Order: sequence, then structure tokens, then C-alpha cells
Amino acid sequence: MNRLLLATAFLMSTLSVACAQQQQQPGKPEETEVYQPVPPVVVPGKTAADPPADALVLFGGQNLDQWVSADNRAAPAQWTVAGGILTVKKDQGNIETKRSFGSYQLHLEWRIPASISGTGQARGNSGVFLASTGKGDLGYELQIVDAYQNPTYVNGMAGSLYKQAVPLANPARRPGEWQTYDVIWTAPVFGASGALVSPAYATVLFNGVLVQHHQALTGPTLYIGKPSYGPAHGPLPIKLQAHGDKSEPLSFRNIWVRELSATK
Ligand code: MG
Repeated sequence: MNRLLLATAFLMSTLSVACAQQQQQPGKPEETEVYQPVPPVVVPGKTAADPPADALVLFGGQNLDQWVSADNRAAPAQWTVAGGILTVKKDQGNIETKRSFGSYQLHLEWRIPASISGTGQARGNSGVFLASTGKGDLGYELQIVDAYQNPTYVNGMAGSLYKQAVPLANPARRPGEWQTYDVIWTAPVFGASGALVSPAYATVLFNGVLVQHHQALTGPTLYIGKPSYGPAHGPLPIKLQAHGDKSEPLSFRNIWVRELSATK
């Protein structure tokens, strides 16, 4: 019996050595090392919140030179710039970037005033339209609204892709504190016939916490009804929302973008 066990153990160890030898690839490690193309040097910001050297600063605290009125692109953006921060002027409507973008990396910071009033969606509502498909609230909205102990429908809370994707977590800070969004936006791709080839995707970190993970969108976000992709579009502006609720207006600072695909 012992002999049989020994023989079995010997056979098994011989087989495992043979298998390991079979898995070993012939050749040298250098054969799988890649040296070209060398990634470009990008001097980073002092912190992860500061713009890297190759970023386009959309709002650096001084002016709204990079922005226009979303409902009248010939008119300048009329929100308030003071003390290095940008504050929504609700009666001036949405603002959007002069430039259009395809896929990109975006950083922005927002702060709901400590004195905020209202409840649910009427408490510090704004939003970032990751691509503005037209006037008003047309586009793909990453929601901004107070999410600190402020219940509302979860597919419309801060960190949601409005009425399409519930955030994976709620890392909201209390009103009065600055909050960050870091977004990777993958623009939708349309074929020559105008048919959708690949949907839009968004990855979102909210205060450094992953809340959307390469989430596909089913079309521009809608307040009412089921979203779907309409006419084909190329690069589009990024838009900030002046929501019509009666609560105190919120502020933004430190907005920058790095294009990941060329603007057409
Ligand atoms: Mg909103």
C-alpha cells in the first residue's frame, strides 16, 4: 500500500514538472518589451485637483472668457465671478463652453451654500451637461444637487447620470463644503449613415470616490420620458445648469479639461 502511494506521488510530481516545462515560453524577456511610442511628458499639477500642463483651464478664478450663454451663443456668459469663484445667476440661464469637445477628462469643484433651503430636487440643483446637444437642458447631465441627508429619487441624486444611472455610492459633503467631480467622458460614435455605432460612456469620481464606472448612456438625459439617441453629433460644448428652483445659487471653481480625442 505504501509503495502504491509512493509510486502515485512520484508520478504526480513528474507530471507537474512536465506541465511547468510545457508552459514555459521559448525566447527572451526582451522580445515582449515595448519602447515606442514614448508617452508625452505631462507636467502634473501640484495636487491632483490642479490642472496638468496640457489641460485647458475653463475657469481658473478670473473670468468667463471660455464661456458663453447657452441659449444665445453670441452673448457672453453672465454668471458672477468674485473672489476666485463662479456663482450661478439663475435668471441668466445655462452657460456653456465656447469650444466643443469629443472625449475628455474633466475636473470641476462645486459648493452648495451652507444656507441652502428647500428639499429634494429643489435644494441646490445644478448639473454638468457632459455634452450639450442644444438649448435649455438638452444634453447628457451629470446631476448636481445637495445629497447630504437630502433624500430624492436616487437616479436624480448627486453623482447620477440624470434618470439613467444611480451612483455606486454617496460620498457627498455637507452644504458649505467644496466637492469635486472628476469625469472621463467617452463621446458617442455615429456611423456615416447617422446610426449609433457606440454609445456615450461616463466614469465619475465624486470627492475621489467612484460613483459611475464606464457607465453607458442610452441617449441624452431627459426630465420626462425614456431616453434614446437622436440625430448624430460630433464634439459638443460642456454646459453648466442654472436650475429654476428657488434655493440659493451654488458656486464652482477650478474647472479644467484634457481632451482625449481631437476636436473636429
Ligand atoms: Mg440638475
